[in-house]
Amino acid sequence: MSHHETIQTAATKNIVGIYQPGSAHMVGDGFPVRNLFPSNELDREVSPFLMLDYAGPQYFTPTDHPRGVGEHPHRGFEMVTIVYEGMVAHRDSAGNAGVIGPGDVQWMTAASGIVHEELHEKEWAKNGGTLHAIQLWVNLPKASKMSAPGYQTILNDNIPAVELDGGAGRLRVIAGSFLGHKGPARTFTPVELYDLQLKAGKRVSLSLHEGHNTSIFVLEGLASVNGSQVAGDAELIVCTRDGSHVTVEAQKDSRLLVMAGELIEEPIARYGPFVMNTRAELMQAAQDYQAGKMGHLS
Ligand code: MN
Repeated sequence: MSHHETIQTAATKNIVGIYQPGSAHMVGDGFPVRNLFPSNELDREVSPFLMLDYAGPQYFTPTDHPRGVGEHPHRGFEMVTIVYEGMVAHRDSAGNAGVIGPGDVQWMTAASGIVHEELHEKEWAKNGGTLHAIQLWVNLPKASKMSAPGYQTILNDNIPAVELDGGAGRLRVIAGSFLGHKGPARTFTPVELYDLQLKAGKRVSLSLHEGHNTSIFVLEGLASVNGSQVAGDAELIVCTRDGSHVTVEAQKDSRLLVMAGELIEEPIARYGPFVMNTRAELMQAAQDYQAGKMGHLS
């Protein structure tokens, strides 16, 4: 045996950076969002995730005309809407429709193309209220970009909620798995998506896949990862692909979204609502939409 001591390096993920929203804008007239990526020039660091829009929290006055985004197309990826407060209604050209409220998730697969609308739910809009939600876009690998569209309504009751040791909080498994609890979302590539509530002064240790991208969005609160500098409201902590362990510690009661997944090593070409691999495919998408090939809302 060598007399040299081997230093056991814990396989923890390091921190690439902490990011504030890189842009803010209104989506339609119902979703005031702060964007974490692709602003901040995050691309390979967050793949397979393409976009993170943080909507609200914002109060909307009562109206008989639900606010939101009217008919528009998508092709080449999935749109995941997570509602924390408020009620959102969706309707698309593939015949899918649904309403989601606090704790619910909509997992929409545009793939070869859909046309849809995303609005505040009618009755909710009549009363007015606070909207607080996230829309996350998840890329599809080239082989699945032209698959048939799909739609998953994932209700709060169907999302495993794991009580954390020592009363540290609660972790809801939307996709992937945590301590043997499997999330209901069907995904095309490996993805872990956790809604995490962590109490002030508490921590949780997450075991994620070596080599997968990992980022943690702090909706509200104050938290650090592996002893990094703290991140506060609407800040994103991006970790390295190397390593597999992440310890999240809350300095205040915090609500976080943990996103991890396998990097899709393919070129990305994007234009508005279309995300493909080449510029020619984007032009084809625009043509197909204009020719009505992605359908219409009835
Ligand atoms: Mn949309």
